[in-house]
Amino acid sequence: MKTLEVTALENGTVMDHIQAGCALDVLNLALSQLKQSAITVGMYLPSARHEKKDIIKMHAYHPSDAELELMGVLAPGATVNFIENFKVVKKVQLALPQEVKGLFQCQNSQCISIDEAIEPHFHIHTDGEDIILKCHYCEHEFKRSQVSLRARV
Ligand SMILES: [Zn+2]
Repeated sequence: MKTLEVTALENGTVMDHIQAGCALDVLNLALSQLKQSAITVGMYLPSARHEKKDIIKMHAYHPSDAELELMGVLAPGATVNFIENFKVVKKVQLALPQEVKGLFQCQNSQCISIDEAIEPHFHIHTDGEDIILKCHYCEHEFKRSQVSLRARV
């Protein structure tokens, strides 16, 4: 069944084993890039590896290395399969990067990075299950789930 899901795409990218419920965050990031391409999303699917998982299929689109790094903040541990002619030509497991720039908005209203001219910059670490983002400028710490994605220009 899993093989079928992955290979059903002729050309594009399948993100598999996304933590259940996290697909929408990844889509928010991807949508500005993917307006012309078809996207298929599966959420809360049964999985052997986790109890539930999400899957995103991006038709005729391959994320760049920079986009994969950003996606790693949103879906660490997810598997990204690059598909060409129904075959997996490259497989990448997303890892949590140590820092992220430009993706999230600092939630501290006094922070200088609220200024649109300044690129937000967070250092990343984990605390148990939680992904913690520490603002490079004001040093406030936030759980990943508390920080909103910055609108893309
Ligand atoms: Zn800040």
